[in-house]
Amino acid sequence: MEIKDDNISAMCRPAIGEAGRTGDWRDSTPVIDPAKCIASLKNRPACYLCWLYCPEGVVITGNPIRIDLDYCKGCGICAEECPARAIAMVMHEEAKNE
Ligand code: SF4
Ligand code: SF4
Repeated sequence: MEIKDDNISAMCRPAIGEAGRTGDWRDSTPVIDPAKCIASLKNRPACYLCWLYCPEGVVITGNPIRIDLDYCKGCGICAEECPARAIAMVMHEEAKNE
C-alpha cells in the first residue's frame, strides 16, 4: 500500500490545516515550572508523561520541555497527568503577562 502522507502516525507533528493555527482556540495556557519538572530536575530524558498524554502532539521533549502554543488547545490533560504537578493552567490574559 502506498503511503501518501508520512505525517499520519502516532508520532505526527501538527501542521496548519483547514482550521489554521488551532492554538487560537485556547483560553488557558499550560505553563511548566522547571523547578518541579522531573526531566528538568534530573537533567535527562525522564517522565515525559505530558508528551505521552497530549492529544495534540504539541509537547516537545528536551530540557526544558516546551509546548508549541501555535497548536496547544489548552485542554489541561498534561497538567492533570503530570505526577510532579509541574504544569499550571493559566488563564489566557495571565499567560500573556508572563
Ligand atoms: S509530566 Fe510533568 S514532570 Fe513529567 S516531564 Fe512533563 S512537566 Fe515534567
Ligand atoms: S493543554 Fe492539552 S493540548 Fe496543550 S500541551 Fe497540554 S495536553 Fe497538549
